[in-house]
Amino acid sequence: MDRLKSKVALISGGARGQGAAEARLFVSEGAKVVVGDVLDDLAASLAKELNANGRNALALHLDVTRSADWRNAVAACEREFGGLDVLINNAGIFNTSGLEETSEELWDAIVNINQKGVWMGMKEAVAAMRKRGGGSIINISSVAGLTGSSGSTAYHGTKGAVRLLTKAAAVQYGRDGIRVNSVHPGLINTTMIDIIPKEQRQFITNNVVPLGREGTPEDVARLVLFLASDDSSYCTGAEFVVDGGLTAQ
Ligand code: NAD
Repeated sequence: MDRLKSKVALISGGARGQGAAEARLFVSEGAKVVVGDVLDDLAASLAKELNANGRNALALHLDVTRSADWRNAVAACEREFGGLDVLINNAGIFNTSGLEETSEELWDAIVNINQKGVWMGMKEAVAAMRKRGGGSIINISSVAGLTGSSGSTAYHGTKGAVRLLTKAAAVQYGRDGIRVNSVHPGLINTTMIDIIPKEQRQFITNNVVPLGREGTPEDVARLVLFLASDDSSYCTGAEFVVDGGLTAQ
């Protein structure tokens, strides 16, 4: 119940999917949560739900490609809830285009959100965490950041970059008590993967995923909770896979 008592968490892309599941779980574990997203209405209704039993959450507009939005989000954590202890760099976009099929505009859009956005979030968060004597940054990569496939070129590139941005930050900020880890989900049932044809998803779960099912946002949220909490006090610079065994073979 109280694994995140007195902690303040900022979740990018928190309005729906995995981010929303993390926001719900975090509040149930005693955290105050700031939900940042470009989907303002969805973020606002999630905050309303989370505030049903007290002041637990705040929704704000956060486009992870804009440094001014990040500054505003970190300032809101400090002003509204007294500081920042946990950052979840969760916002992301997915596209299945292969190498030659990727336009420069598409490449830039994916890199800006999935990669530059993660760097920018960490850059704006570390000073606030230092003031609290430390913190936990959780960067949501993907199994696509560990292995390649015949498409999704820009997505693979950005998620692989997140894996090593995580390790670099973990090394730089270890002495500040700031832990930085990456999470690598497999096929998780959210809006993001609606672009994958149903038959293909069925084939993957039936034939490729050892646990024989897609993951849920809650499957990922429970791992993220571990990394946000003091239960993971000696974990940093590491990659945590939550994929039903997808990358085990
Ligand atoms: P989702 O599409 O439901 O959620 C992504 C969220 O990011 C949305 O709320 C969206 O509005 C937000 N977002 C997009 N661009 C943004 C921007 N510029 N600024 C702020 N927010 C922005 O999908 P999800 O599955 O919950 O994705 C969460 C994370 O998990 C992503 O980083 C994704 O790449 C990663 N992931 C997902 C899967 C999967 O199978 N669903 C697998 C591996 C990794």
